Amino acid sequence: MGINEATKILIKHQFTNLESMGKLAEHLLEQHQVRKTKIRIEILGFFMSKTYALSHAEIENAIDPNYDRVTIYRTLKSFEEQGLIHKVLDESGTSKYALCADHCVGHKHHDSHVHFSCIKCGHTFCLDDISIPTINLPMDYQLIGYNFLVQGICKDCPK
Ligand SMILES: [Zn+2]
Ligand SMILES: [Zn+2]
Ligand SMILES: [Zn+2]
Repeated sequence: MGINEATKILIKHQFTNLESMGKLAEHLLEQHQVRKTKIRIEILGFFMSKTYALSHAEIENAIDPNYDRVTIYRTLKSFEEQGLIHKVLDESGTSKYALCADHCVGHKHHDSHVHFSCIKCGHTFCLDDISIPTINLPMDYQLIGYNFLVQGICKDCPK
């Protein structure tokens, strides 16, 4: 089971069953060959409970205060390396992280989708089905990566 499927199940159950969310998080860690620890299960569970990208500060505020910044930082790094989450830059250049779709594996991310930043709620969402248009660079320019951010008002905010 990939992340999308896991998240769908959680949405279906309206995140009421915390125990099964923990179980799903454990399952995903196993699948992505990340050693299971309490903090990893907790942080991954938090990602699964949100539909938008999370900043370091949001994660820090949400989890057990006994864990320090460095531990959280390392956890995010290992998630990124193992294809569980990807980096999302918002319009202020702040790094956020979002859950990857099913097909990301360690060191092989396929997150070439558009990100959407809502000017009302301030959340940044993955638009997994919207691909980034082909970028034709001028001669002698080499493409290394891109951040494609669209700003607007999300589906949950009043227009
Ligand atoms: Zn990815
Ligand atoms: Zn919004
Ligand atoms: Zn994304």
